[in-house]
Amino acid sequence: ILIKGSDYIDAIKDIKEIVFDKTGTLTKGEFEITKIDTFENYTEQEVLKYAAMGEKYSNHPIAVSIKKAYNEKIDEKLISDINEISGKGISVKIENKQVLVGNEKLMQENNIEYTKCNEIGTVVYVSIENKYSGYILISDEIKEDSFKAIKELKDNKKQTIMLTGDKKEVGEDVAKKLGIDKVYTELLPDGKVKKVEELIKQKNGTLAFVGDGINDAPVLALSDIGIAMGGLGSDAAIEAADIVIMTDEPSKINKAIKISKKAMRIVKQNIVFAISIKALVLVLSAVGIATMWEAVFADVGVSVIAVLNAIRILK
Ligand code: ADP
Ligand code: MG
Repeated sequence: ILIKGSDYIDAIKDIKEIVFDKTGTLTKGEFEITKIDTFENYTEQEVLKYAAMGEKYSNHPIAVSIKKAYNEKIDEKLISDINEISGKGISVKIENKQVLVGNEKLMQENNIEYTKCNEIGTVVYVSIENKYSGYILISDEIKEDSFKAIKELKDNKKQTIMLTGDKKEVGEDVAKKLGIDKVYTELLPDGKVKKVEELIKQKNGTLAFVGDGINDAPVLALSDIGIAMGGLGSDAAIEAADIVIMTDEPSKINKAIKISKKAMRIVKQNIVFAISIKALVLVLSAVGIATMWEAVFADVGVSVIAVLNAIRILK
């Protein structure tokens, strides 16, 4: 757990509300393709190929998984005019054909007549030359560690909230399985910012946001304490965050809260101890009954004891 500065060690113990991003934070962000369905005489391999080519330059977890499933060399020369629309998908030209790879919002925005897929999972729709050509159904797994993390946070009376750009069914399913208090779905990146601004305005206490920075770096910067997943997370996230969790385990937040409480307790003990000994020796010497050795103890001795006391945090 990397904490960027002592202010945050102090602040973590006061966290009341924790807002999580879904993909890559509570879930693994490693999508498995569970189904490909095609329309307009396209084959499954073709739909996958166009999707993988479109995602060539994206580092979104969805993009990484589609490229992994395609697993063939992609000729960059065939790809042009790439436009990644965050929270929606990709618009790109492949072999001079206009290709869209993304969610329902992207299809609706471009007036593509698509057939809605009602299966459980995240759906990536593909359109080629403004014609709907198929979808790729992918699913993500919840991290084992997320169950433990949410349970511990709730045991400690923290309010848990999840924000996601994914569709309602998927978001609510994940939130229900984890036992998260509140969930807001189908949010674009600026929707996430607005939601967190609203939550901060309600003043329910210190708010922490936990994300991987893909489409949520602004929220990391905005919240009282921004916590980033350092392994999977983007560079922007690590830069914008106040705390970085290198192992990507959400349960490390509980650990950070414990460390913060313990550290602050020891800091207070040391302050009280040092000031009271010094005040005592000051009074004794004022009335003329302090020896030289007592004065040395009040200065150097107290420093050494305070350092030894602080070392206990390492355990
Ligand atoms: P989350 O909030 O769960 O981390 P994002 O905000 O990163 O999700 O993305 C929200 C949705 O936008 C995804 O579920 C997906 O439907 C769509 N999307 C975003 N980027 C891409 C992409 N590169 N390719 C396909 N779909 C994408
Ligand atoms: Mg994300």
